[in-house]
Amino acid sequence: VRPDDVGERFERIYGTGPRLFAQAPGRVNLLGEHVDYNQGLALPCAIQFEAGVALSENTSNRIRLTALDLDSEHTLDAADLESDLDRLRATTPDWALYPVGVGWAWVQAGYDLRGWDAAYTCEVPAGSGLSSSAAIEVAFSSAFGLLLGVDLSGPEIAKLCQDAEHGMAGVRSGLMDQWASSSAIKGHALWMDFRSLEARPIPLPDGVAIVVADSGVRRALTASAYNQRVDECRQAVVQLRDALPSVESLRDVPPSAFVELADRLQPPIRQRAQHVVEEIQRVRDGVASLQAGDKTAFGHLMQASHASLRDLYQVSGPELDALAEIGSSLRGGYGTRLTGAGFGGSTVSLVDVDAVDGFCRELSERYRSATGMQAKIWVCQAGDGATAAFV
Ligand code: ADP
Ligand code: MG
Repeated sequence: VRPDDVGERFERIYGTGPRLFAQAPGRVNLLGEHVDYNQGLALPCAIQFEAGVALSENTSNRIRLTALDLDSEHTLDAADLESDLDRLRATTPDWALYPVGVGWAWVQAGYDLRGWDAAYTCEVPAGSGLSSSAAIEVAFSSAFGLLLGVDLSGPEIAKLCQDAEHGMAGVRSGLMDQWASSSAIKGHALWMDFRSLEARPIPLPDGVAIVVADSGVRRALTASAYNQRVDECRQAVVQLRDALPSVESLRDVPPSAFVELADRLQPPIRQRAQHVVEEIQRVRDGVASLQAGDKTAFGHLMQASHASLRDLYQVSGPELDALAEIGSSLRGGYGTRLTGAGFGGSTVSLVDVDAVDGFCRELSERYRSATGMQAKIWVCQAGDGATAAFV
């Protein structure tokens, strides 16, 4: 996103230039899916697509919001952010739920945020599983942080954005997307621990490219299916507590212990829990493979993750399965798996840089002949997280 372009458009709308500009990237997760809300481990990178917001405070106690890409405007009273959440949700157009929700979260957290004007754009393709929503939320949160002079950590920013998603969009998502968007580091995957809230950058091995393929499929009812998985994991914890009273989350169950305990769980709770327990272990193993430069081993973990999301967690679908199967069979491909929540969206592949052009071409062609669908394919660079600066 080019700050000057967004700034100029801001000026045309509001009459003066913006006070500040903030931007935040989308993300792709290499390993560790559906584990953030289980206090697990994940390994995402930021991608080169970003949301950018130009913002100023005003003295009118009004909030004026313009989505440049949608050519849509919405205004509300700053005091509305202190009002009842149901009412706020009912009076906010769908496209504005995330920025208004972030404003609401900051106000609910006690920050003194009055009137402001904002114009924003987002390059992250919407609904592709690359988290355009997190990019927008984190861009706004970074803008508010700079405006108010508060320097929040990545997890703190992510928590406020999560409050916005829970409150306004009704998705009980974890912290991964927003934390990655906030704290990612160029050339690295970010190892994240959702229990201790520590993160560590893990250098990506030389000679590999990250390829993202959007299946073009969007499933309806994603939010309710997602929340159902969150519930199933919680039920697994409750049932496992009879045997292991100290279990607070599935993070507390090592794979070896799970084998002993699995019989206590009914399907599909057992399958959901098995995925989470093993996926957390795959992230541990994946970090070791990356550090050893063992791309082949990492790719196998990605394949195993996809199979588990397909068979045990049941969040894949025929199109994502086709991409994963084709990707794993192509020359130069180390591994391909669905990335993000699933239910449609994208896959991520780790690919030898020397083979990347052919890989993308073949993936596209074979996907089309297998499904009749056209994938969108991007070679991604692992970039830095959010930034904000006064203009
Ligand atoms: P994802 O986060 O996987 O991209 P979501 O459904 O969580 O998918 O978020 C998509 C939503 O984000 C859109 O419905 C819209 O509200 C918002 N959004 C995405 N891109 C833009 C944009 N360019 N301008 C305004 N809002 C956008
Ligand atoms: Mg989202």
